[in-house]
Amino acid sequence: MQFKDIVGQRDVINRLTEIIDSGRVSHAQLILGPAEDGSLQLALAYLQYLCCTNRQHHDGGDLRADSCGTCPSCKKISQLIHPDLHLFFPNATTSRVKSNPSSADFQQEFHDFVLERNARGTLDDWFASLGIENKQGILNVRDAADVIRSLALKSYEGGWKMVVVWMAEKMNEQAANELLKTLEEPTPGTVILLVVESDERLLQTIRSRVQTVRLAPTGSSREAALAEQFAPLLVGWLRLLFKLRMKELAAHVDLLASLGREQLKLFLQYALGVMRGCFLSTAAGMPYSIGSGDAKFDAMFPAMITANNVEPVEQALSEAVFAIERNANPKITLMELSFRMSKALKKK
Ligand SMILES: [Zn+2]
Repeated sequence: MQFKDIVGQRDVINRLTEIIDSGRVSHAQLILGPAEDGSLQLALAYLQYLCCTNRQHHDGGDLRADSCGTCPSCKKISQLIHPDLHLFFPNATTSRVKSNPSSADFQQEFHDFVLERNARGTLDDWFASLGIENKQGILNVRDAADVIRSLALKSYEGGWKMVVVWMAEKMNEQAANELLKTLEEPTPGTVILLVVESDERLLQTIRSRVQTVRLAPTGSSREAALAEQFAPLLVGWLRLLFKLRMKELAAHVDLLASLGREQLKLFLQYALGVMRGCFLSTAAGMPYSIGSGDAKFDAMFPAMITANNVEPVEQALSEAVFAIERNANPKITLMELSFRMSKALKKK
């Protein structure tokens, strides 16, 4: 991965290459931004530049420097086969790995996933490619121990020892505490890049020990994609909540449950965002577009979320997200949610 392959982010990249050129490489960094905006791309291009034996500098143009892309080190990193580059990512048991999973069990799958999607695949894409839609992938304590082991190894190529922890916010507490030790006592010649979409879930103690590189926002592409995917499902469901026809509702619940846990969680979070948007817009006397493609529904629905019911609606949705995260039965969770929502909506 070269910097030139990344869309936008020129200021961020120019700052990073300047820092590397000056030799002030920070031992632990947090790269913060959506996968679609290229956070993993940036991490990989950064490491490639760091190790490149023939860094290219440009006087003009938007990129002031880039890796050469052709030296042995560049080639190995771009193919993810550099022996001093170690990748960690959320994982779970699968049909093949039935117990104690760790990133080590899925290296080939992850390499393929990254290379096929040009390092822009999302967490949902990754879980789908592993076939674990219905499980919560995490970075566990075995992964954290492997990070520490990788950094303790002697460098094969005599240069930097590099660790990328993709979606580090998916570390469980045990893993985060384990990793903290290595952040507190860095080994010379090592670089750890924590690639995250959100740093809210990271331990404060971790956040305070890493330098944050924030990707420049590239607009609301993610929101638009979520709306495109989920608005029709949401509207179909909300319509049924008013009528509460059990047979149709059960069929819709089946449909939602078939999304798989991760997607269902996204759907519920999306629904929560829409409910808040409806309430705040109506309260402020502003129009709100659900963007469902159903003009009549879009015009009617926002006014249904009022000060009288916004709290129970939000609570019901948040609790459903929580239940799905805790492996509750999706159909029962959705059915209970439907009844609570239905009741709350009637109290407008
Ligand atoms: Zn190179």
